[in-house]
Amino acid sequence: MAESIFTRIINREIPAEIVAEDDRVIAFTDIHPKAPVHLLVVPKDPQYRDVTELAAGDPELLAHVVATAKRLAGDHSDGDFRLVFNTGATAGQTVFHVHAHVLAGGLEEGSLGAD
Ligand code: AMP
Repeated sequence: MAESIFTRIINREIPAEIVAEDDRVIAFTDIHPKAPVHLLVVPKDPQYRDVTELAAGDPELLAHVVATAKRLAGDHSDGDFRLVFNTGATAGQTVFHVHAHVLAGGLEEGSLGAD
C-alpha cells in the first residue's frame, strides 16, 4: 500500500508545521485551516485507516490521541476544543490514515465539523 501523506510527514519526506511529537503520535497544523486553531493529531502506526479501526485495534492509542488533543488545545487556545474524525469518503475523509482534527479558538456557533 502506498504511503499516506501523513506517513511522509512523519518520515520528514515533506514539510509540516509540527507542534508535538512522541513515540506514538505526531501533531501538526492543518494546511487548510477551518478554525483559528486547526491541528491534526496522527498516530504514527499507519495500519488504522479510520477511528473505528483504531478504537477496535488499539483503544489505548485512541485515548492517547484524545489526551494529546486536550493538551494542544490548552497550549494553543483556551483549552476548549472540537475533536473531529471524518470517517469515510462521503463524510469528508480524504486521508485514510487515522487522524483527529483539533479545532479551537473562536469556533462559529452551529458549525459542526472541519468543513
Ligand atoms: P480528512 O479530510 O478528514 O481526511 O482530513 C485531511 C486533512 O489533511 C485536511 O484537512 C487537509 O487540509 C489536511 N492536509 C492534507 N495535506 C496536508 C499537509 N501536507 N500538511 C498538513 N495538512 C494536510
